[in-house]
Amino acid sequence: MSTIFNELEYAENLLKNPPGEVKSFDLYILRKYFYYMGYSKKNAIKLKNDYCKKCDQYYSPIVNFEEERKFENKYGKGHLKVSKEIIITEEEMNIIKSQEDINKQKILYYFLVDVKNNNSNYTSTKFTKILSFAKVYVDKQTKIKYQNELQEDGFIRSANAGASFEVLYKKEDSLVEFIIPLIDVAMEYFPYYCSCCGDKMEVKKYRKKSLCNKCYEEKRLNDVKKNMQKMRNK
Ligand SMILES: [Zn+2]
Repeated sequence: MSTIFNELEYAENLLKNPPGEVKSFDLYILRKYFYYMGYSKKNAIKLKNDYCKKCDQYYSPIVNFEEERKFENKYGKGHLKVSKEIIITEEEMNIIKSQEDINKQKILYYFLVDVKNNNSNYTSTKFTKILSFAKVYVDKQTKIKYQNELQEDGFIRSANAGASFEVLYKKEDSLVEFIIPLIDVAMEYFPYYCSCCGDKMEVKKYRKKSLCNKCYEEKRLNDVKKNMQKMRNK
């Protein structure tokens, strides 16, 4: 899980140990960091200038006016990626897995990640947004169908006059299944199971395969055999 870039840690380290040069990537991270810490634009610019001087005593805001302008104009844009542990329990995973439809599993999974990230049982994220975070791409009709079914089955409930959802299958007291370090990449941690033998598969980004390596190899050999037979029978 060390592959995930924690911008908060990175920014804190920059300020503690300023490198020997001012890099635009570092300024980009610091820009988001100062905003995240609640500094006004004016104070952020002052802190940034202090930082630049520490890196390079000859740093000049006039010479580097392009960077300066970017920092100022884009202050408050983009959010800092902060590592946060989200624990999904085995009991919760079992509830999610009880759904036959893999899309529904993904939706329920993301709903749970979202409310846990909020430290509550509620989320104000729109249903459509949840689907796109969960990488579920279906037509409008199906979206409505999913929402209705998940509500009817008692997984989610519309709350605050429709402004948010309450997630009803959140449980805290069972064994830890796994930990997600960052909400932005939550779906990469969604566990996949082989559609043939049901074994848990390695979690990988943009996985398209539905079979585990063993079943895939078996299927491939079978296909080869079948093709050979076809050729022989010709
Ligand atoms: Zn398998």
